[in-house]
Amino acid sequence: MTVKVSVKDLHKSYGDNEVLKGINLDVQENEVVVMIGPSGSGKSTFLRTLNKLEEPTSGEITINGSNLLDPKTNLNKIRENIGMVFQHFNLFPHLTVLQNVMLAPTELKKADSSEAKKEALDLLDQVGLREKADAMPAQLSGGQKQRVAIARALAMKPSIMLFDEPTSALDPEMVGDVLAVMKDLAEKGMTMIVVTHEMGFAKQVADRVVFFADGYIREQGTPQEVFDNPQDPRAKDFLDKVL
Ligand code: ADP
Ligand code: MG
Repeated sequence: MTVKVSVKDLHKSYGDNEVLKGINLDVQENEVVVMIGPSGSGKSTFLRTLNKLEEPTSGEITINGSNLLDPKTNLNKIRENIGMVFQHFNLFPHLTVLQNVMLAPTELKKADSSEAKKEALDLLDQVGLREKADAMPAQLSGGQKQRVAIARALAMKPSIMLFDEPTSALDPEMVGDVLAVMKDLAEKGMTMIVVTHEMGFAKQVADRVVFFADGYIREQGTPQEVFDNPQDPRAKDFLDKVL
């Protein structure tokens, strides 16, 4: 087994607010880890430390064998390898769907533009939006925008995908299409860490469910273990409210 992400004793404080209090987590290649937990428990902060959008206070993070916190590590290279999808999609409003998906590979990798275009169209196929290639983001529904955002992240050919509540801002009828794209990606073998409140998705797709509370991982296991027989009282309490 190959460890894609290894986190050891990770701490993160904002001023005197200690948000992460010693997180340990290894994610294997092809593994889908779903992170659940109450609002404010540090889930987003944790995801953001994994590509150094946030500077950890202490601890170790290893991505694909590279030490993220070593100043000699090529951070841009690591970031190209980690796709990230947030709650708010932030497509470039003045670019078409196709241009949004092609932008990073064309600019950063200097990919040949006809090749980048072919790959972008294939990705739009994968998320079910090839016919929207020439549309502007404003013409899309929230769920369609989020699927474009996923295609855009995949365009850099990442080997790890991070999702931070990708469906939380969507109307309920859009959620299923986005989750279906994520499930398809998981089935294709993508290594994924997904923060979500979609417990059905967690049960169906997660290899492991990790419960965060108060800056600690309080519980983890298979979906069955965590959902059917939680041991930590906070996890029990949280699951009673959301299930
Ligand atoms: P979650 O994603 O689980 O809801 P967050 O990681 O967003 O939790 O937030 C955890 C805590 O960190 C909260 O108390 C929040 O106010 C604080 N926090 C998050 N980002 C910042 C920031 N940039 N500056 C100061 N405090 C922050
Ligand atoms: Mg969050």
